[in-house]
Amino acid sequence: MYLSDSDGLQAARAQLVSYSARLLDDGLAVGSAGNISVRLGDLVAITPSGISYAEMRPEDICVVATDGTEPDGAEPDGAEPDGAEPDGTEPDGMRNTETPSSETPMHLAIYAATKAGAVVHTHSPEVIALSAGRPELPAIHYAITGLGGPVRVAPYVRFGSDGLAAAAVEALDGRSAVILRNHGAVTYGRDLAQAYDRALLLEWLARTYRLALCYGEPAILSAAELDEVAAEARRRRYGERRSAPGPGQP
Ligand SMILES: [Zn+2]
Repeated sequence: MYLSDSDGLQAARAQLVSYSARLLDDGLAVGSAGNISVRLGDLVAITPSGISYAEMRPEDICVVATDGTEPDGAEPDGAEPDGAEPDGTEPDGMRNTETPSSETPMHLAIYAATKAGAVVHTHSPEVIALSAGRPELPAIHYAITGLGGPVRVAPYVRFGSDGLAAAAVEALDGRSAVILRNHGAVTYGRDLAQAYDRALLLEWLARTYRLALCYGEPAILSAAELDEVAAEARRRRYGERRSAPGPGQP
């Protein structure tokens, strides 16, 4: 769990830069596409717009308020020009040197609707290819229970729009992953490591499904079979941790 202090913020900046490099290495994005964020209490640290991941530095990471309002100590109102994003506000004393990701509204909407501690948005090829031809990623493998079940494809809406944020949140209901048609995917988790692992899992599942289609119409796991897997996974986690699953569990 992160704290809204300078140590937590510094750690988040470094972690976001590190995972940004992984987005390229793992083939989940190219150039500066995609974006990732971490929640720290009522703040969100998010990758900037238009800076290639290969060149990103910790000081380039942007900080915005989760609720879109000016935090205490900032100018009361009237500071925002007409048409400005309602959620691009900067906490006082943490002035961003770069512009926050264009998908900041989508990240903030997901934090508002879930208990996410981190959000990963990718432009990964397997999910984009699937999104152009299928309404969802079906249960080709039982590991999809780690994402809450079959992953929906949200309708196409222009990047950076409030409409896209709303579509993503709606399609995330009961899931920790959503595919955005002709665009990419979003996953969330209790922390960046879990959100990122889910992005990798989602891409792997989409690739596995595409491979399975080579053999004809593949067998898909039923809801009952997935329920059985989820129950067994919970039972084993209870045994290991002797506590309930964390908030990141779908
Ligand atoms: Zn995008």
